[in-house]
Amino acid sequence: MIEKVVLASNNAHKIREFKSILSKENIELIPQAKLNIPEAEETGSTFIENAIIKARNASLLSGLPALSDDSGIEVDALGGRPGVFSARYAGLECDDNLNNKLLLEELNGVPINQRTARYHCCIVFLPNFNSSAPRVFNSTWEGKIGLQEEGHKGFGYDPLFYLPELKCTAAELPEAKKNAISHRGKALRLFSQDLDKIIKI
Ligand code: IMP
Repeated sequence: MIEKVVLASNNAHKIREFKSILSKENIELIPQAKLNIPEAEETGSTFIENAIIKARNASLLSGLPALSDDSGIEVDALGGRPGVFSARYAGLECDDNLNNKLLLEELNGVPINQRTARYHCCIVFLPNFNSSAPRVFNSTWEGKIGLQEEGHKGFGYDPLFYLPELKCTAAELPEAKKNAISHRGKALRLFSQDLDKIIKI
């Protein structure tokens, strides 16, 4: 039986990655916007808190099990910022371009060996809105913040997220390659491994 699961995200890029990474699973992912569910306010100060808030909101308003993602980039030279504020780094009305511009400005003069960074992804699966046992899957992806934007694939900070072993940015990777090695790909594969147990709850 195909299980309906509400996807607690309005980010079209994330939704595309979720659907691709979980394409072989026996679940129908329904983006929350299709059910007219508004975005939850992200009041947490950690990825896991925000991921739970998003999943609970979507599950409460849909009556379905929910899957959520809270993610962001942690830059060592900035003491871990922007972290949970990655989407809103350059202000509430910002976009990916403004965020990337601000990141380059803040790192102006920082040499490449000190530009280490990592993406974090926290995936939460909530079987129902009042469940006291959310399933949590975390992963990271290590890289460096490049000196300029390169590539047009992906989204967010991908044009600045340089992968020394591959000698390119995340925005230069084909989608399937990004999904094979990214923070989101790895966290969602942990979810997949547990799916048989989880969905019976
Ligand atoms: P969230 O929707 O509150 O979880 O915000 C996540 C933010 O982190 C996004 O808006 C991006 O700025 C950044 N981010 C997370 N994952 C990725 C990724 O795979 N590529 C690029 N940026 C990402």
